[in-house]
Amino acid sequence: MSYNYLYKLVLIGDSGVGKSCLLLQFTDQRFQPVHDLTIGVEFGARLIEYKNTKIRLQIWDTAGQESFRSITRSYYRGAAGAVLVYDITRRETFNHLASWLDDALQHSSPSLQIVLVGNKSDLSKRRAVNYEEGLNFAQEHGLTFLETSAKTGENVEQAFIQMTHRIYEKVKTGDF
Ligand code: GDP
Ligand code: MG
Repeated sequence: MSYNYLYKLVLIGDSGVGKSCLLLQFTDQRFQPVHDLTIGVEFGARLIEYKNTKIRLQIWDTAGQESFRSITRSYYRGAAGAVLVYDITRRETFNHLASWLDDALQHSSPSLQIVLVGNKSDLSKRRAVNYEEGLNFAQEHGLTFLETSAKTGENVEQAFIQMTHRIYEKVKTGDF
């Protein structure tokens, strides 16, 4: 498949927040409800068209390594964007955002685009983190913010595609 640009994106955040499910929803438009690390894809890809340009997204998933804190420099190397994910039903996953962000900023290029994603918005009855808390964290750190559901697909497209557009505009202005 031909393309004009290739962007590497990485998924980061605690184990169980839904990174693999978000990737599957974005690349295959389906949901895999069983939590099984062996199902977790390590890479996903999708072609996006924007302003008559074909952009291939190569999306890296941790494949369970986050439980051992073994995400290394090579995971971030060359990444243009990161999707930082927490689970709106588990406050500890929100509390860990700052350390994920530190890690990403330390290991990646300064122009890395980051979108903050509060996942599992379909489980609003079990919500433990308010929308405003997510938004505030994002604004404090200059990130964009969306709540998503990898289950229903809500905002999943938007999260990846908004980021792709932002990277494109940044590359074009030579700001990258
Ligand atoms: P990862 O460890 O971050 O890759 O998390 P997974 O993608 O493996 O998801 C962990 C668990 O959360 C699985 O049991 C999924 O079925 C479930 N899950 C992921 N996303 C959602 C979501 O948006 N809504 C609901 N209800 N469950 C989800
Ligand atoms: Mg996973």
